[in-house]
Amino acid sequence: MVFEKLETITEIEVQYTTRSCLVIHVGKSAGYSIVDQPIIKIGGVPVIPGSSIKGALRSTTESIMSESGIDVCIPEASIPKTVKQRGRKDDYAKELKRLPPCDYSRGNVCPACDLFGAASLSGRAMFLDARPESEIVPIKRTHVAIRRDTNAQSEGSLMELEAVDEGAVFLGTIRIVNAENWQIGAILRSLEVLKLMGLGAKKTAGYGEIDTQVKKITQNTFENGERAPEDKTLHTEDYMKAFEEKLSKHES
Ligand SMILES: [Zn+2]
Repeated sequence: MVFEKLETITEIEVQYTTRSCLVIHVGKSAGYSIVDQPIIKIGGVPVIPGSSIKGALRSTTESIMSESGIDVCIPEASIPKTVKQRGRKDDYAKELKRLPPCDYSRGNVCPACDLFGAASLSGRAMFLDARPESEIVPIKRTHVAIRRDTNAQSEGSLMELEAVDEGAVFLGTIRIVNAENWQIGAILRSLEVLKLMGLGAKKTAGYGEIDTQVKKITQNTFENGERAPEDKTLHTEDYMKAFEEKLSKHES
């Protein structure tokens, strides 16, 4: 996103509390990839990467908007390889009642891409890594490996999981540049939905359940590049309402 002028920076401080185990690391042989790991370790410290948070909030926001009749695209990264190889991206998007991936070079930017960005475009919102509030000691668990393709146990091989136990508290910030009120609301609503959806893979096995709590929303206003002396504290209800209004305009 190219910003003509910096007007506001809104910061949403979020507390994430695990309600079940969150997987840090699983053996590669089990067929899991990086995207399935909601937690990574940075310098030995478990961290919920901003990319995990962004991914979960983006797909939730897309679904909410799409269901309310707001046209949003299907991101390039969400289209299966086989569909791309057969050149059927547009049909795939249509089946899902989505626009084909936005092409910023042609000036196509749907509301989801405006907020979350697209391949060649950074969105208004930045998702910083969520770090432990206090020291978290990961636990190890052993599971019988399940092959994803067949759902069958693979010859009884055991895989070891490293995970963060329930009750671990992480703090992270979401920063939005020149946010419209409904955009702040969209993030807040999606954070609510995250409580039901969880983070990462293995959710069905009782992993990845997470509680989210917005601790504080502050907005800095800029005028001619100068930061206003006072930061404003915002109230979640006003922004949730702005998002509801945005959605209801599109519902038939
Ligand atoms: Zn888009």
